[in-house]
Parts: sequence; structure tokens; C-alpha cells
Amino acid sequence: MSAAPAPAPFGPHFGFGLYVHWPYCARICPYCDFNVFAAKDRDSGPLVGAIAADIRAHRPRMPGHGALDSVYFGGGTPALLRPDEFGTILLSAAETFGIKRGAEITLEANPNDVLRADLIGLQRAGVTRLSIGVQSLRDASLAFLGRDHDAASAALAVSRALKVFPSVSIDLIYARPGQTPASWEMELKDALALGAPHLSLYELTFEAKTPFGLAARRGDIVPMGDDAQADLYELTQDVTQAAGMPAYEVSNHAASPAHQSRHNLIYWRGGDWIGVGPGAHGRISVGGGRYASEAERRPEAYMANVQALQNGWGGAARLEPLEIARELLAMGLRAGEGIDLRRIEAVAGAPVARDKIDVFIDKGWAGISGAELRLTPAGRLLADAITAALSP
Ligand code: SF4
Repeated sequence: MSAAPAPAPFGPHFGFGLYVHWPYCARICPYCDFNVFAAKDRDSGPLVGAIAADIRAHRPRMPGHGALDSVYFGGGTPALLRPDEFGTILLSAAETFGIKRGAEITLEANPNDVLRADLIGLQRAGVTRLSIGVQSLRDASLAFLGRDHDAASAALAVSRALKVFPSVSIDLIYARPGQTPASWEMELKDALALGAPHLSLYELTFEAKTPFGLAARRGDIVPMGDDAQADLYELTQDVTQAAGMPAYEVSNHAASPAHQSRHNLIYWRGGDWIGVGPGAHGRISVGGGRYASEAERRPEAYMANVQALQNGWGGAARLEPLEIARELLAMGLRAGEGIDLRRIEAVAGAPVARDKIDVFIDKGWAGISGAELRLTPAGRLLADAITAALSP
């Protein structure tokens, strides 16, 4: 009897998700680098219809894919959609691919959206998890970040969400100019006290084309230095660890494995996901190859493309083995569970050099057990540099 062939080193057996990008926001935050547009009072119907059609148009290209493990509504502000519009998109996904019983269905929402929303209606439409953009629990910082909510409404939004959804995540932005370790520690503890079982903690970045990026270039805002940021990162690890919310990825913390983002784990594990909506990215594995899709960024162009081609893959590109291997390594090392190096070798055709790995193990930045390489919390701070050094 011959041995069963090893499973492919990437693909839907590592998870299969659907990412839906809703590109509109009530107002655009000055630090935001996502593909976003002002909502104004436009009719959301045509874009909802295009997204539903885009999901269906993926099917002929991927006939072997089973039911979805997760659906993630991100943006932009997908919470601007009505429950029946979620229903339209989810119905398209269910009819086209199927959605597994108990699948994770996440919706990103800002605190004021949560306070305005029909939470029960969203839950009935299928949403199981709310990811709330709290960003800060200090009113002055919220004003600096250009947010339209205050700390009290953020706290109220979290408490209402916790009453309805089995899983709630809150986003916070730290390493803001002038933020001290003591003030961040107090704010983080206030956030932990809200009781959400998942936290996403991001350092403020100054992307070139954003108003904040331009202000930093002019010298109007002085970003925090690297060393001070690293200190806050370490403090963040200590405070969250002590509170029973350890990091399971560079920026993500959960109270238990059940509250880890199953959708994001698909990205970090090298699974497959369909990306629909303007500017959405996808990764689909078929016929031994892996394809990267990127939808048209402008909503009008996206809708025209879906209508004309009835094919959301548009210009999907087949990735080269080295591109796949590098991406698997980069994403895998972000996650606390790490990556099985045999998967990298199977794709790249050569092992990751052990002497290079040992350098990082000696520094206390990585650990290896069998073929599983993972970074320590200190190493995760340097994940990008370590990935670059180990990349095939
Ligand atoms: S609400 Fe979120 S997606 Fe929209 S502009 Fe602000 S940060 Fe960007």
C-alpha cells in the first residue's frame, strides 16, 4: 500500500473565507489608508447587487471548494448596510458555496454605528461577531484621530454588543504622538475592563498619502520614535498577558482560542479566501496553483467590471512558487502558532537554512519544535525583519 500524498501546503483545507469590502464611511479619518470613499447619501443597492453577483461569478473558477468557514464584512464602514442588505450578500454566499453551520460572520462597526444599529436584526441576518473601532478611550485622542465618537459612547457600544453577540472585538490605536507608557497602560486597562474577549491593538502609522502622513512630512505632527514604540509594544504584551488576553498574532489578542478571529487565521495559515467589493484582495488555490485577485478599487469601476465580465477574478494572477513560499512564511510567522517549515520547503523546493534560523533562536526571538517555527513575543516585534532574513 502506498502512502497517502501529503496535503497541499496551501489551500482551502487551511480554511476558506469570504472577505466583503464595503468602501464607504460617514467621514474619512485622517490616518486611514484603506480603500474608502465618503458615503454621502448614495443608494447602496447597486453595489450590494454587484457584490452578490461577484460572489456567484467566482464559482465556475473554483468548482471544488466546499462551504465557507467565515465571512468578514470589512471596510470602510460595512455597518452602514441594513440587515436586509447583509441578508442579500449572505444569501448569495450561502447559495453559491454554502456557509458552514457555526461559521464565524464578522462585521466591523464604529461605536456610533453600534449605538444606532438594529443589533438583533444583524444577529438574525447571521452576524456572529462584531469588531468595534473604538481606537481610543480618551476623548482628546479621539478628537486628534478625527473620530466622531467619544469614550463614553465607545464603552456603551461595547457593552450593548456584548449582550447580543457571542464574540466582540475592539480595535485600539496606540503609539500616538506624546503618549506615555503610564497613560497607555491606564487606557489599555480601561479597555480590558470593558470585557470584550478579543482586542486588536495597532500602532499608529503615518502612510504617505493620508492627511496624517502629509502633516508628518510637513513637521506638523511628530510621530513616536521607534524605541518608544517598541517600549509600548512590550508593555502591551505584559499588560494583556497578565489580564489573560495574550497575543496570538502580532497585533491580536484573545481571551481563549474560541475567541481568536477564525477569518484572520485563514490569512495567517495560508488558507483560501474570496475577496469581493471594491479593492478587495483574494487568494484562491485551484489545480495546484495559487491565484491572487484584486478587485477594481473605485466602486463605479468595480460595478462595471462585475457587470461586464460577470467575473470577480478580473485580472487574477497566478503566483510563482517563491511568491507563495514567501507569503506563507511572512503570514505564518505573524501568528503565535508559527508555521511548519516543511510547507515552505514543499513550495520553494529548498529548505529554509537552519543556520539562519539558529541566529534568531539564540537571540530569544524564535523557537522551533520539530518542523514548527514560531516567533517569541519579542521576536514578533521584529517579524518583518526576521521574515526577510529567512525568506527563500
Ligand atoms: S471609519 Fe475606519 S475605514 Fe472609515 S475612514 Fe475611518 S479608519 Fe478608515
